[in-house]
Amino acid sequence: MLNELKEMVTGPIEVAKAMGVTLQRLFRKPVTCQFPDEPAQLFPRFRGRHILQRYENGLERCIGCSLCAAACPTDCIYVEASENTDDDRRSPGERYAKVYEINMLRCIFCGYCAEACPTEAIVLKHDFALAEYDRWDAIYTKERLLTSPATPDYIILRNDQVFEDKPTWSIK
Ligand code: SF4
Ligand code: SF4
Repeated sequence: MLNELKEMVTGPIEVAKAMGVTLQRLFRKPVTCQFPDEPAQLFPRFRGRHILQRYENGLERCIGCSLCAAACPTDCIYVEASENTDDDRRSPGERYAKVYEINMLRCIFCGYCAEACPTEAIVLKHDFALAEYDRWDAIYTKERLLTSPATPDYIILRNDQVFEDKPTWSIK
């Protein structure tokens, strides 16, 4: 009996507390984004889809060394190297990637490939709109990776100072 009485008093109090939280947030600006009608705001370190970079003179950064493929935990990168010649030079080194493919269905966006790359050729940028109608379109070819925009126009990069050093209990 005592417990029931207690519940009769505490129940409405808990409901009122919960409604209070709802009321507090009712008049605040929503944090949800109406993508794709509105651009999505991402943090600069967000890891999205890959691109292959070029040097300023147009040569490909990739030298076909396959270190990215070796580092990939899901085995989703395939590289086939070929020799540069004086008549057909694609990269500054001896070799370039004749075939470079990433199977995006297997990628977990860990960034190990970018970490392993000695020339910063493969990097993860910000695009996250990766849905395809055909599974074969999820295999990104070298041409596609070389020509993709780093940050498509439906993405806005936030400039919040989220990584600013802040004093904590351990820093005196
Ligand atoms: S981000 Fe990770 S899983 Fe994706 S291709 Fe690179 S190493 Fe492989
Ligand atoms: S992207 Fe980098 S690690 Fe991968 S094959 Fe090209 S140069 Fe080597």
